[in-house]
Amino acid sequence: MRKLMMIFALGLLASACGSKDGKPGKGFNVFTVQDDKALGAQVNAEILANPQEYPILDPVQYKEVYDYINGIKETIMKTGEVRYAKEFDWEIRIINDTTLNAFCTPGGYIYFYTGILKFLDSEDELAGVLGHEIAHADLRHSTRQITQMFGVSVIANYLLGNREFANQITQGLIGLSFSRTHESEADYNSVKYLCKTPYNAAGGAGFFEKISALGGVGMPEFLSTHPSPDNRIEAFHNHKSTMGCQGNEDFRTRYKAVMSKLP
Ligand SMILES: [Zn+2]
Repeated sequence: MRKLMMIFALGLLASACGSKDGKPGKGFNVFTVQDDKALGAQVNAEILANPQEYPILDPVQYKEVYDYINGIKETIMKTGEVRYAKEFDWEIRIINDTTLNAFCTPGGYIYFYTGILKFLDSEDELAGVLGHEIAHADLRHSTRQITQMFGVSVIANYLLGNREFANQITQGLIGLSFSRTHESEADYNSVKYLCKTPYNAAGGAGFFEKISALGGVGMPEFLSTHPSPDNRIEAFHNHKSTMGCQGNEDFRTRYKAVMSKLP
């Protein structure tokens, strides 16, 4: 499970990249949209079956927080910019853990750690991170990455109902994170989604700005060994400017109020 998770790990922290190339879904993909949905459902089932490693917050007990995040998701889905808005499941879950991260699976299962929810300061920042995650799923980055790593012919031999398929593929993917190109695409699309909402469309930059402001104190080890996130911050703001996004809301007060309900 841990290995499987590594494939789909968000990579929000993965790379600093200033590419302005926002063309969606780069790279050939041998998988079908149905494959993405099936893979995502499989990973989601494994996560739900492993509460020790993934202690999911009860959606009933924490209904207010779930409703709030789902409301942001709906705002993004209604922009018409998400290609698989109707096809994918777009299920959000919260993991009670201090990790400063979020991640998604193919097919639109998205997980936030309480760590990052408490770390962020405002709703536009959360919307930016959520947009980034939605983009990874919507642009089908995971299955593109697998296609590129293993090659079409290798995967084709395993695709049709082979139970060993996932295991064999995942063995080679330990520690893999999304490529810089895919991270840049996800950042670009986060701005594109938010551009049609009242939010500050560069909200996704907030996470990196806050990390930068820490000046290395408490900085996740992985980030500290990478180039500065400054390029990504700059790219968020440049995209917002280039697209002419008008929204500037951060809804800071209500964000803090809702997140105060977290355990
Ligand atoms: Zn990412």
